[in-house]
Amino acid sequence: MKKQFHREITTRALGSYFAAETLESVIVANLGQDALRYQFGHDHFHYDSNSFVAGNAYCDKLRLAIAAALQKGQIGDARADLGRLSHTVQDLYAHSNYVALWRQLYPDAVPDDIDPEFAIVLQDARFHSGKLYYPLEVFSFIDSIKPYVLPLLPRDSHAWMNLDDPGRPDFSHAFAAAVKRTRLEYLRIVKKLSSGAVSGLTGLTG
Ligand SMILES: [Zn+2]
Repeated sequence: MKKQFHREITTRALGSYFAAETLESVIVANLGQDALRYQFGHDHFHYDSNSFVAGNAYCDKLRLAIAAALQKGQIGDARADLGRLSHTVQDLYAHSNYVALWRQLYPDAVPDDIDPEFAIVLQDARFHSGKLYYPLEVFSFIDSIKPYVLPLLPRDSHAWMNLDDPGRPDFSHAFAAAVKRTRLEYLRIVKKLSSGAVSGLTGLTG
């Protein structure tokens, strides 16, 4: 996902649960995952190149880290890890053929109907994510050069497969799935917390 959409997805998913300045710290950590140094050797941050096992393990690690940080009163760390977790789960739908496989099953469904954790899709042998074919792939991120590079890249490349912006087919479905999944992750985390801990995390009381 492009930064603007990570921001929009996170705001739609969590905006009603968080104080504005607290949500901003979650969003800053989310966007930090796309820093240049995390674009290489960090496929699992973005579910790139079929890194489903490593991506899932990374998400598990973050969920545990959030709980541990809250127990120690390290609220800033908990918010940052929630931001990182939201980034990775949002990228799942933008970087894989999850939406395409789901739409094969439900061709007439609207974006808001999408189930972000549909086991039949997640277990489908055809389920895969875009591979980064460096160095050529780098040029696909530059809009003016992209049309020349795209024909040279395989169909399973990130450049062909991504649903990172509204110019891509099925972007609305990827966006809707990412909003739902982000909210689900948050609700699962707070289910295990006391109301005081929830207030600490969100910056909202009551
Ligand atoms: Zn990313």
